[in-house]
Amino acid sequence: MVLSEDLSEACGVFGVISTTKEDIFRKMYWGLLSLNHRGQQSYGFVTLSKGGFHKKEDLNLIPTDPREVEVLASSLRGNMGIANARYATSGGTGVRHLQGGKQPLVISSHGRQIAISYNGNIVNAAKLRKTLHRKFGKFKTDADTEVLAKQILLSLEDNSGNYEKAVGEVLDKVEGAYSAVLIDSLDESFYAFRDIRGIRPFCFSHSSSLFAFASETPALDINGFRDYDYVDPGELISVARNGKMTRSTVRKGQPAMCAFEFAYFSRPDSVLNGTNRPVYKIREEFARSLARTYKKKLDGIDLILSMPETADDAAYGLHEFTGLPWERAVRKNRYVTRRAFISGKGERDDVIDKKVNIVPSLVRGKRLIVMEDSIVRGDTSKANIAKLNAGGATSVDLFVTFPRITNPCLYGVDMATYKELIGARMTPEEIAEWLGADSVNFQTIEGLVSSIGIDQKNLCLACVTGEYPSKTAQQIADKIRTLQKSEPKSQESEKRVYERNF
Ligand code: SF4
Repeated sequence: MVLSEDLSEACGVFGVISTTKEDIFRKMYWGLLSLNHRGQQSYGFVTLSKGGFHKKEDLNLIPTDPREVEVLASSLRGNMGIANARYATSGGTGVRHLQGGKQPLVISSHGRQIAISYNGNIVNAAKLRKTLHRKFGKFKTDADTEVLAKQILLSLEDNSGNYEKAVGEVLDKVEGAYSAVLIDSLDESFYAFRDIRGIRPFCFSHSSSLFAFASETPALDINGFRDYDYVDPGELISVARNGKMTRSTVRKGQPAMCAFEFAYFSRPDSVLNGTNRPVYKIREEFARSLARTYKKKLDGIDLILSMPETADDAAYGLHEFTGLPWERAVRKNRYVTRRAFISGKGERDDVIDKKVNIVPSLVRGKRLIVMEDSIVRGDTSKANIAKLNAGGATSVDLFVTFPRITNPCLYGVDMATYKELIGARMTPEEIAEWLGADSVNFQTIEGLVSSIGIDQKNLCLACVTGEYPSKTAQQIADKIRTLQKSEPKSQESEKRVYERNF
């Protein structure tokens, strides 16, 4: 999937266990391929067979050339495996850093070897690094995965290899978002666990002989599973080689599922926990909510357009609700994709400009409502609105399914500086002027929450409210806000807020 603002997530994870002797690579491959939208900078597979761990990884997208896939299949033997499609939200983004940050990570200590793959971001990684450095020596990478893996090894040592106790300790000590799958070669068992807030999605399914865990349900669908369950916040699930599955809530916390998953990240055909309906149905509801909130804006409108592809479902919802025509006159060139290594702003602008094409004859002389999923940096919207204006549109009113983003994300979405957030610097009116639109109409927080259908207290909305569901994240955000007031230029830092030194 090509993402409209080139926003990316920390990762997609997949894990699979067969109780038969069959190799599970193909199931793992299809599962991870269904999650490639969650991370496109690197991918990796690890399997466990009698011969130990087998690992294959590389930068960029998961390969689809059958010859490359066969090479992977021939070397990834075993009936237990985990996989990861990664985007870096910790550590550097140069080639060397991305190489070092590839997941799954295989790491050992005192005769125990584990492989781990996770989705999310660790907020207090800098602090944990200091303690873990004293215990394990120098870190090999600047990615959070090594922090999480080493904390698990340390907690296992301190708790005589008892996973329930060790993961409980990890959940206490490691603040942030993590949906993790892990294989331990010592007891040949598989483990899945999720942070106490359940910020990132995490689901699983099983038959009598096959178990699969994934960031999103389409990775289960593609493997033939029809019923899903979810790894609960604070839960540890273990699956032994003989298929014995054990579930235990090792810590309890206040759930805080990422609201942005519904507007942008998750696949439209995903069913996220707590909703019982596919994400695209929620996106249609976002549009109905916008129509109710901005009823007057609908007067005299000729046409609804959507910025493809994440706003298509909302555009359809608005069309269905209002009866206004919807034209797909904005088309994405799916081969102009975000690349892992855009070297500078000029190159980035060039790519943005080439990603979307507009059919001018359909917009000429028309008053338009343009549906957008969200506005983060605004550069993609600006480029597209310029094309609509050049194509002769009479007016362009933007409907945005997600509220104005005013605060960075510290939990694994690639918007971790204030500088990049247009909503942190400008009012909706100023944003409209900068974009070249007649108006910008953001979803209200109430509209977002009621459309999702999850109680507000169980959602993370920090990027739109400034209220973070975890303590260190709130402290970091408060600190930066204070700095902004005393020295406004401080918000111009290019560094991710959780990686800054105060
Ligand atoms: S801050 Fe926003 S993007 Fe980040 S986890 Fe919370 S809702 Fe999601």
